[in-house]
Amino acid sequence: MPTSRAAGGVRTGDGISGQELARAMDRDELSMCYQPQFDLETGRLVGFEALLRWTSPLRGAVPPDLFVPVAEREGLINRIGDWVLRQALGEAAGWPSDLSVAVNLSPAQLNDPALARRVTMLLAAFGLAPSRLEIEITESAGDLASPLARRTLAALRAAGVRIAMDDFGAGSSSLERLASLPFDRIKLDRALVSGMAPGNRRDVIVQAVAALGRSLGVPVTAEGVETGEQLDRVRQAGCQTVQGFLFGRPLPAAAMAIPRASRSVPRRVRGGAVVAAI
Ligand code: C2E
Ligand code: MG
Ligand code: MG
Ligand code: MG
Repeated sequence: MPTSRAAGGVRTGDGISGQELARAMDRDELSMCYQPQFDLETGRLVGFEALLRWTSPLRGAVPPDLFVPVAEREGLINRIGDWVLRQALGEAAGWPSDLSVAVNLSPAQLNDPALARRVTMLLAAFGLAPSRLEIEITESAGDLASPLARRTLAALRAAGVRIAMDDFGAGSSSLERLASLPFDRIKLDRALVSGMAPGNRRDVIVQAVAALGRSLGVPVTAEGVETGEQLDRVRQAGCQTVQGFLFGRPLPAAAMAIPRASRSVPRRVRGGAVVAAI
């Protein structure tokens, strides 16, 4: 399988052009993967985060951290973002109705005045309750505070869509954003979670963010949980939901095993399948 020519090295955009990305779209090289999210108290599977994938015949698997910034820079993110929404909502429509889907949006998409309306139309077209969609926004995003972005967020929330602040703790001015924008969930950045050890600074900070979430009345999700020890730490800290390789890697919808009858029974995820004990 052709892997990226820079496998193992640091890649800075890798010479990806807007033209190449547009061609990738035309040639159907994008796809979605889904990573399970679990409620820590009940052990139940609560939903999936939709994650974009590009499999290039030349480059192999290109991570979204590489090509999403190119799409943003080259003015392609709205086109790609619409494709992502349609794909993710269409696939989520086939899941049990108590499972939600989380979709990452670039801040530029919020500056599209027609976005909220397109999202509600898509939800209706696929027969999905708006409460089953969560939009993830990365808090370090610069133009999140524009009046248009705020209006879009407000319109989505008014329609019943939930908004999550992604990668909390990794950017700047996150507390001010929490104060000034209406978020329904905080997603703790993986760097904080993976560095937790009993009594260390990250441990204390995660506890404090969990307490902040409780005070604000918004649940806190711990991202990037990879070990049982990390699971214990985030549980003790008071996080509500978890996501990470310990429970399941992102998988294409067709490869996911969503247990129907026994979803309330604690499970352990093995080999990527959703069967995990927490
Ligand atoms: P994110 O939204 O914070 O997504 C979580 C990332 O952490 C995913 O990387 C996921 O595969 C990875 N991850 C989850 N659990 C673990 C773990 O236990 N250990 C480790 N090491 N990693 C874990 P991925 O899929 O490469 O996505 C990277 C970023 O690309 C995303 O970060 C998001 O900001 C962006 N992205 C992905 N899909 C989309 C999309 O459809 N639209 C936009 N605008 N951005 C997207
Ligand atoms: Mg995310
Ligand atoms: Mg993000
Ligand atoms: Mg994140």
